[in-house]
Amino acid sequence: MNAAFDEFFMRMALREAEKAAADGEVPTGCVIVEEPDDPDAIPAMARILGRAHNQTEMLSDATAHAEMLALSSAFAARGNWRLTRTRLYVTKEPCPMCAGAIVLARIGTVVWGLDDPKRGGGTTFNIFGHPGINHHPAIVRGVLEEQCRDVIVSFFRRRREGGGIIQPGGNLNNYDGGQHGGDAD
Ligand SMILES: [Zn+2]
Repeated sequence: MNAAFDEFFMRMALREAEKAAADGEVPTGCVIVEEPDDPDAIPAMARILGRAHNQTEMLSDATAHAEMLALSSAFAARGNWRLTRTRLYVTKEPCPMCAGAIVLARIGTVVWGLDDPKRGGGTTFNIFGHPGINHHPAIVRGVLEEQCRDVIVSFFRRRREGGGIIQPGGNLNNYDGGQHGGDAD
């Protein structure tokens, strides 16, 4: 698909990330769309199968990452666990858990904004390109990378400066605990 198509849906994923930030969640957002047959299709021609943001804190669920929640919606929308001919947009590179789920779901193309050099499922763990795995989604990196970085950096900056949500029994000053850049998403 063309760059304008990918940027449109990455902006939608960014809006999801902003919802997460407003809830005090580490801000990542994800959108899954069916890929139109026409490579020059406009975004309005693509059916949205799922969109979600990180809800780890709200659901008290370590697996409630944006990608996992968007995948669940997409399975239900399609009535099928095979999400072939789809594109998954996520603001930050998927973690190994989400990368594994994306492979199982047969997502056609994974598009992300910001690399995660510490624990990225693609760049660090090579799950998408691993020779022992029988499905290799196409990868597009760096779409709206600056905006995707900004939403995370500004979230952690606000939280350090006292604008975040104080967790029960926690101290805002040490809650972040070196998570900057995302030990959770
Ligand atoms: Zn994840």
